[in-house]
Amino acid sequence: MFIESFKVESPNVKYTNDEIQSLYSYETTELVHENRNGSYHWIIKPKTVKYEFKTDTRVPKLGVLLVGWGGNNGSTLTGGVIANREGISWATKEKANPDDIVFGGWDISDMNLADAMVRAKVFDIDLQKQLRPYMESMVPLPGIYDPDFIAANQGSRATNVIKGTKKEQVEQIMKDIREFKEASKVDKVVVLWTANTERYSNVVVGLNDTTENLLASLEKDEAEISPSTLYALACIFEDVPFINGSPQNTFVPGLIDLAIKRNSLIGGDDFKSGQTKMKSVLIDFLVGAGIKPTSIVSYNHLGNNDGMNLSAPQTFRSKEISKSNVVDDMVSSNGILYEPGEHPDHVIVIKYVPYVGDSKRAMDEYTSEIFMGGKSTIVMHNTCEDSLLAAPIILDLVLLAELSTRIQLKAEGEGKFHSFHPVATILSYLTKAPLVPPGTPVVNALSKQRAMLENILRACVGLAPENNMILEYK
Ligand code: NAD
Repeated sequence: MFIESFKVESPNVKYTNDEIQSLYSYETTELVHENRNGSYHWIIKPKTVKYEFKTDTRVPKLGVLLVGWGGNNGSTLTGGVIANREGISWATKEKANPDDIVFGGWDISDMNLADAMVRAKVFDIDLQKQLRPYMESMVPLPGIYDPDFIAANQGSRATNVIKGTKKEQVEQIMKDIREFKEASKVDKVVVLWTANTERYSNVVVGLNDTTENLLASLEKDEAEISPSTLYALACIFEDVPFINGSPQNTFVPGLIDLAIKRNSLIGGDDFKSGQTKMKSVLIDFLVGAGIKPTSIVSYNHLGNNDGMNLSAPQTFRSKEISKSNVVDDMVSSNGILYEPGEHPDHVIVIKYVPYVGDSKRAMDEYTSEIFMGGKSTIVMHNTCEDSLLAAPIILDLVLLAELSTRIQLKAEGEGKFHSFHPVATILSYLTKAPLVPPGTPVVNALSKQRAMLENILRACVGLAPENNMILEYK
């Protein structure tokens, strides 16, 4: 049965006109170890912390501004939501929210969204024809273009760019956000980067390591501030959530620092759509089962504009980094299988093959050591339209980011309610290289990320975490 709405009846939960308030006992453990005659002895102490949550239940009219709106992901998401809203899907006549989102955005290519959809070659021709009247009038705003940060092969696409100094470009983006909000009459805006993967920017003391240095660098029009960092700066100044769907280090330390100071949500990095999602399930399973992955080799080939951009070594390097770190926490979680510092060989290859277009191929070989020195090899081959995987993830990211700005919490002893930390780890289920606040452990295992998300949402309505014990049948 489809659950359209629900209400929790509990003394710990109160519904007001515009809030759900919950009292929640956070059950956790404290670990301490003692050195007893040269060997470590662990003591585990259960700990309960009382929390209060309150969630604003007034769902705003939401505007989403995409950086790279005219790209494969941007045009596929926009077309997909319109098709759903208008009931013109060829596969189903069913309707679902979020039909009311107003889309907008920037692109360095001035192509309207209908032509961009044709260029992307993702949708069925029949669907494209039906969508054209809705998308023809959607034209991206000029974007911030810096050829030093993306592949040289993108140059011919850059027909729609903001002129001026970096500071003037930030000011233009801020103005664009305010004007979009005004013109589209939305209550809230979320901005998401789905533009080309940039190269990493250098993190240098004095340049971008602190907020003060980053802002001084902006005044000086320093070359090493990337376009994505400029968009993110504009969003923080406008107090609009900014999500990075690509792998580059948009969030340099000075920018993270600024987002924390201004309590403005940032989240990323890189959509977790296919190969990495599978990896974050498989490695968690193998390591947890005592099967020791020793070599992980991941090939990709794709023929869309993303693939062409990634054929340059410096942009490929950004992708290689975000794809590589994903096994680290799972490997280090098992001190029996792996010696300290030991790590499987992990290699990522991405090749541009124009013929396959948006239909990406991902091939993976996992070799593991098993009982008595035996070997187990798993090989996978996945063929999938890349943008059809990414578009729903973009939707989930913006909806979740918006929802998380409506949740407030406080632990016992804390005087005031506060929002979640502005570095939004709640989005990590959907991102390949989860951005976390400085000094916080990164969790990559997909099941743990999902449990975190589900259980936080349960806490908001005063429900205990899903424990899967099923004691009533034991
Ligand atoms: P795409 O090349 O089709 O689209 C990117 C768009 O961004 C282009 O239209 C381009 O003109 C525009 N652009 C480039 N720089 C810009 C700037 N500074 N400002 C505004 N617009 C700019 O690529 P795509 O397939 O839509 O993918 C978008 C991004 O998402 C890529 O970085 C890709 O690596 C990342 N990503 C995609 C997936 C997936 O499954 N599709 C998964 C993870 C990450």
